[in-house]
Amino acid sequence: MKKLVLASNNPGKLREFQALLAPLGWEVLPQSQLGVSEAEEPHCTFVENALAKARHASASTGLPALADDSGICIDALQGAPGVHSARFAGEPKSDARNNALMVEKLAGRSNRKAHYVCALVLVHSADDPQPIIAEGEWHGEIIDTPRGAGGFGYDPYFLLPEMGLTAAELDAARKNTLSHRGAACRRLLARLT
Ligand code: IMP
Repeated sequence: MKKLVLASNNPGKLREFQALLAPLGWEVLPQSQLGVSEAEEPHCTFVENALAKARHASASTGLPALADDSGICIDALQGAPGVHSARFAGEPKSDARNNALMVEKLAGRSNRKAHYVCALVLVHSADDPQPIIAEGEWHGEIIDTPRGAGGFGYDPYFLLPEMGLTAAELDAARKNTLSHRGAACRRLLARLT
C-alpha cells in the first residue's frame, strides 16, 4: 500500500477517505498520528487553503498529502461566509451562532441562492508543481427556519428547492451522492484511476 497523509483531524473525513482510497492502493493516515501541526489557512479561496494544508502536511511527513477545504457561499452576501464558514460568527466556532448570523444578514433579502463548495488537493510531494485539484459545488437556497436533524453546519437551513428538502433532511448516503464533497471526491478518484 502507498501511504498518504490526510491534512485534517476530522475522524469522519478520515473514515470517508480511507474507504474511498483503499481500493486504489492508498493507506490514508491522519496527520495527528504523524505529529503534523495545524496549518495556516490565510487565503481567500478554498483551493489555495487546501493547497497550503496539503503542502504543509507533505513537508512535515515526506509523504504525499491530501487536504480539503469547504464552506458555503451566499449570493446576496457577495459569496460570504466562503472560506470563513466555520467561524462566520467568530470564536469559538459554533454552528448555532453561524446560522443565526446568516439568517440575520439575509433578513429582508429576496435572493436566497447559496452554494456549498469543496476543494480537494492532492500533492505528491511538498513542492509538487502539478497538484491534483478537484472541486465540487452544491446549489440551494437559504431558509429562515431550520428543518431536519442530519448533516451538520448550515445543513438545516440549506434547502434543495427541486426536492423540497433541506440538506439536514437527507440521510448520509443521499447527501453523499448530491453534495459538494461527494462531487469533489468522485472527480478526484477519476483523476487517480
Ligand atoms: P471544513 O472545510 O470541514 O473546515 O468546513 C468548513 C465549514 O464549512 C464547516 O465548519 C461548515 O460550517 C461549513 N460546511 C462545509 N461543508 C458543509 C456541509 O456539508 N454541510 C454544512 N456545512 C458545511
